[in-house]
Amino acid sequence: MVRIEFVRGDITEQAVDAVVNAANSSLLGGGGVDGAIHRKGGPEILSECRDLRASRYGKGLPTGQAVATTAGRLPARWVVHTVGPVWSATEDRSELLASCYRESLRVADELGARTVAFPAISTGIYGWPIEDGARIAVETVRAADTAVETVRFVLFDERAYAAFAEHA
Ligand code: ADP
Repeated sequence: MVRIEFVRGDITEQAVDAVVNAANSSLLGGGGVDGAIHRKGGPEILSECRDLRASRYGKGLPTGQAVATTAGRLPARWVVHTVGPVWSATEDRSELLASCYRESLRVADELGARTVAFPAISTGIYGWPIEDGARIAVETVRAADTAVETVRFVLFDERAYAAFAEHA
């Protein structure tokens, strides 16, 4: 079973095998976690993302899927980019959010990653309520069939940390 840790911090500073990026489907950068990863990781990551757009993902990376690049100047070895769903009050998109965590772990398995750090996907610019986002994240990782040994949830602020720690 995967060991789960919760820390307050910055995803770009995690010395793990793979950090997960809350990307958007363009793969060409954005705000929040995405902006921070490209800023600190340097241009190499963006260049690999551009190649992925040109080869495998002409229409963009679909919501709920994940793909890896190297991590440039970040302490991690790889970045796993995944696209969370935008929160909707009228449509239940929970399965897509769960898919982000499952697919990221599947990609991490393919890479041979043993330690993976996740941000709270979709809970920033994409508007997902943090309590619900935390529950889906932890339940999905706990139930995942993966060779990853440690998953670290990296929460940027106290409110997000508290929401995740509820599920410890
Ligand atoms: P999304 O577009 O999927 O909502 P965001 O990057 O806007 O993604 O936000 C996802 C979560 O990550 C939010 O809870 C936000 O507060 C948090 N966050 C923003 N920057 C960082 C960072 N550098 N490290 C960890 N978490 C971050």
